[in-house]
Amino acid sequence: MTLAFVNSPLDRCGNLRSDSVAITQLRVEQTSLTIQMAGDSVLFQNNAPHFLSGAVDNTILLGRDENNVHWFAKSVAPSDDLDFRHLRALASDGVLSAPVLSIMAQARSLLHWHERHGFCANCGAATVMADAGYRRHCDVCSADHFPRTDPVIIIAVRHGDNFLLGRQAAWTPGMYSTLAGFMEPGETIEQAARREVFEESGIKVGAISYVMCQPWPFPTNLMIGLIGDALNTDITIDPKELETARWFSRAEVRTMLDRTHPDGLTATHPIAIAYHILEAALKA
Ligand SMILES: [Zn+2]
Repeated sequence: MTLAFVNSPLDRCGNLRSDSVAITQLRVEQTSLTIQMAGDSVLFQNNAPHFLSGAVDNTILLGRDENNVHWFAKSVAPSDDLDFRHLRALASDGVLSAPVLSIMAQARSLLHWHERHGFCANCGAATVMADAGYRRHCDVCSADHFPRTDPVIIIAVRHGDNFLLGRQAAWTPGMYSTLAGFMEPGETIEQAARREVFEESGIKVGAISYVMCQPWPFPTNLMIGLIGDALNTDITIDPKELETARWFSRAEVRTMLDRTHPDGLTATHPIAIAYHILEAALKA
C-alpha cells in the first residue's frame, strides 16, 4: 500500500476562482460533481461516494480532472441514517482509488477551514466565501482570510544502525512511530526538527535530510518527512508528549514495518509518511 493523499489528478483552476460568472456556470453544469462530507467522513451510497450531480451555491471548487469534469465539495449534516465513511478508514482499507482519495483530502481540509472561519479574526464580523472557496472576505473591515496549511516536521532519527521511535499513550498498543511536531513561526524546517526531537526525547540531531512530504487532512497538516543523525543516545522523554521512546535495531524496525515483530510491535501504517521515511532510512 502506498502513501495516501498525495496523488491528486486535478488542475486546481487557480485562475478561474475569481471569475464568479464562470464559477456559477460550472456549478450548474450537469457533468460537475460535488463531494459531500460531514467532518472527516464522506457520504456514500451503494458502496460508492454519493456525488451530487452539479453543484449548489457556496460549494468549493476543487479543480478539473482529465475528463474535463469539475469537482466541488460541500459540508452536509451528519446523520445515523446515512452511510458516512471515515476518510482514514477509506485510505487504510483501499476502498477508493489513490487519486479520488487525494481529492477527498483536499475537500476535507478546505471544508474544515470554512467551518471554523465564519468570523473575521481582525474585527469579529461575519465573513463570506470568495474565490470559489479559497478566500473568505470581511465586508466590514475589508480583511481577506486564506485557507491555512499547518507544517509538521516528522523525522526518522538514527544513530548508527539504531532508530529512535516513540509512542503516545492513546495509540494502539504496540504501535511506535517517528517523532513529529508542529513548526513554529520563524523556524526553519531543520530548527523545528531539532527542537521537537530534543523536547520530546532529549536527543540532539545533527545532519538532516529531506525525504518526502504528505498532505494530511486531519485537518490541514503538511507532513514534512526527514531523516536525521543523532548526536547522543541517552533518552529523556517528555511525558506530556510521549508514553515512551527507545532505540530499535535496524532488524527490529524491519519486522515492525512488515508486521512480523515477535512481540507484535508495529511502526505505523503504510498510508502514513512515518512508514515511508523509515523505509527510506533503512535503505540509506
Ligand atoms: Zn473584519
